[in-house]
This record gives sequence, structure tokens and C-alpha cells, in this order.
Amino acid sequence: MDTPSDKALVPFVSVENMLALIYEHGIGTCLAELADMIEADFKRWPDFDKTPRVASHSKLGVIELMPTSDGADYAFKFVNGHPSNTKAGLQTVTAFGVLASVETGYPELFSEMTLLTALRTAATSAMVTRALAPKSAKTAAIIGNGAQSEFQILGLAAVCGITDFRLFDIEPSATGRCIANLEGQNVNLTACTSTEEAMEGAEVVTTCTADKSYQTILTDNLVGAGLHINAIGGDCPGKTELHRDILMRSDIFVEYPEQTRIEGDIQQLDPDHPVTELWQVLNGTRSGRTSADQVTVFDGVGFAIEDFSAMRWLREKVADGALTELLDLIADPDDPRDLFGMTKRYAIRAGKAA
Ligand code: NAD
Repeated sequence: MDTPSDKALVPFVSVENMLALIYEHGIGTCLAELADMIEADFKRWPDFDKTPRVASHSKLGVIELMPTSDGADYAFKFVNGHPSNTKAGLQTVTAFGVLASVETGYPELFSEMTLLTALRTAATSAMVTRALAPKSAKTAAIIGNGAQSEFQILGLAAVCGITDFRLFDIEPSATGRCIANLEGQNVNLTACTSTEEAMEGAEVVTTCTADKSYQTILTDNLVGAGLHINAIGGDCPGKTELHRDILMRSDIFVEYPEQTRIEGDIQQLDPDHPVTELWQVLNGTRSGRTSADQVTVFDGVGFAIEDFSAMRWLREKVADGALTELLDLIADPDDPRDLFGMTKRYAIRAGKAA
């Protein structure tokens, strides 16, 4: 009868169930746990297969595949980035992904990853801010108040204890939505009318704008001594956020240089401009912040290991099956070599053959 075995029915986390998971655990707890999971995986960086993501660029956006493996688990994410999508009522970034067993090659978890990407991106910014920003930081500017912004704010609050956020977006309605969405979340939010105003008193700034062009979201005069910058919106060739002069006088920290030199803000610099790999700061082999005056830049583009960590975290969270549906995803004939026989047995079952 070709009854699928347990391994052939793949647990799937739908958008609805991801929302239920976030609701049940609390978003701050999810972000803090994810930050710890990503940090733990970064600390064992040499265990992973690594490659820059495979990107298919078009005039309006990019579609990317992001694979990695630690030899036991394999994960990939499908993700797009289309800044003009919002005009058509669509998301800039959407994603789904798979976690598979290296031993059998069978998928073990299939999930929506639009929400999970927002969570892991915020958890990554927060993990890096925890490592590099001045420990006393309480105020952050958030430039670009779109889909990622609330997650970024809650990540900085839950993981780094930042309490005050100064928001700016070229579309005031985006800032208004962000503030309305975060009501009751125990963060102080101030709407600002310019980047300059948002930067007043900020010890940390996260730029998360979307525009497929070389932008100057931050100019050099706005960056004071000791600032930590999370630049996460410059994540594609021809798409940057920071003025080159800021980069030239900062210490720059990256996920995977081979990918960041193509996609990050450092695409504006010489290919051998010195950068520090974050995993080495996290495992103590390289220095992070060494002085109070130092400007630190996290040139974040999003790396496959962050998605791998997010899928590992998710697998733990949904292990009891309450938030998954089983998908008939893998053809699994009773005799593994008789794949074609499935088609014949189907025809018989469907009454279409003698
Ligand atoms: P979004 O389109 O929902 O929001 C972007 C916001 O930026 C919009 O509200 C827009 O009005 C605002 N904006 C554009 N230009 C601006 C400017 N000059 N000054 C101030 N605000 C400006 O996009 P999103 O989903 O929030 O993503 C934000 C960015 O983060 C995108 O570029 C996306 O590609 C990137 N991203 C990076 C990662 C990563 O891992 N590094 C992950 C997810 C998304």
C-alpha cells in the first residue's frame, strides 16, 4: 500500500503555527534563546561547511539559497529581497527552509521562515550588539521602520537591556505603525523627523532600510565616538547604507567575509580592507571593542549559519508535534527500489487500471 514511514512524513511549521509558537513562548524569550543558539553555533564555526549564498539577481530584487551543514544536520533557506514589493502590497523579504539529516539526506523539518528570518536577524543584531556595544548602552536609533524594525527593537531590549529607541523612516506611517505595534512592550519609543534627530543620544544604531541602490543612510558627521552600528539593510551588490568615510574610521565586524565583501557595506572598500570575523570575537580569539571611543560596525548581511541555528532552535520547540502538520513530502515505496511501482499501485487504488 506504500504507507509512508515516519521518516517520509515531514513535520511542517506553518505561518499560523509559527505565530502560535511566538505567542506561547513570548517574543522576548524567543529572541533571547535564538541569540544564544546563534552564538553557540558561531563559536563552533570551523565545524560548518560554508559558502556565500547562491544569489539570482534581477532588476527589482534577488532570490537566494542559503545552505550550510555541520556534518550532522543540513539546512537551507530560500529567501527573496524585493524592496519595491511593498508598493504592490507584498513583503520585501519572504522565506521558507528545510532542516535535513546528513545521515539519510531526508528532510526532518520544513518551515515558513519569513517570521523566523525576522526573529533570527533581530537575534543576530542583538547578539552582536551584546558583544560589541558599550555595556552601559541604553539608547538606540532605528533607521528604517519596516517589517524588521519591531523585531530589531525587541531583540535589543531582551538581549542587551536597551530601553529607549529613537525611530526614523522616510515614511512617517511606518514609524507610526512600529510604535502602535509595540504598545505595552515596555520600551520607550520616540518618533523622529530625521536621521539626525534619531541619532541624538544614541549609543547604538541599527539601519534597516530597503532600497536597491547605494544609499547614505548615515553620514560621517552623525557618527560620534563609541557608537555601535548594526548595518543590516546593505545586503546585496549595489545596495549599501553607510558612507564610506564611516567604514574607513571604524572597526568592521562581519559574518563571513567571502559573502560580505560581495553583499555588505564593505563592497565600497578595497577587497583586502581589514575586517574581523565575528565568530573569532565570540570565541575569544580576536578582540571586539577595546576602547570606549572606538566605532564598531556590524556589516550584517545574514549568513546561512544563522538560519541553521534558527531551524535547530525551532526543531526543539516543536518536538512534541503540537505545532506541526505532517507533510506527505517524500515518495516512500514499501520496496525502496520500486519507485515506479507506486504509479501502478496508485492507478489501481484510484480505480483507473485493471
Ligand atoms: P521593509 O521594506 O519592510 O522596510 C524598509 C523601510 O525602510 C521602509 O519603511 C522604508 O520606508 C524605509 N526607508 C527606505 N529608505 C529610507 C531612508 N533613506 N531613510 C529612512 N528609512 C528609509 O524592509 P524590511 O523587511 O524591514 O527589511 C529592511 C532591510 O533589511 C532590507 O534591506 C532587507 O533586505 C534587510 N534584511 C537584512 C537581513 C540580514 O540578515 N542582514 C535580514 C532581513 C532583511
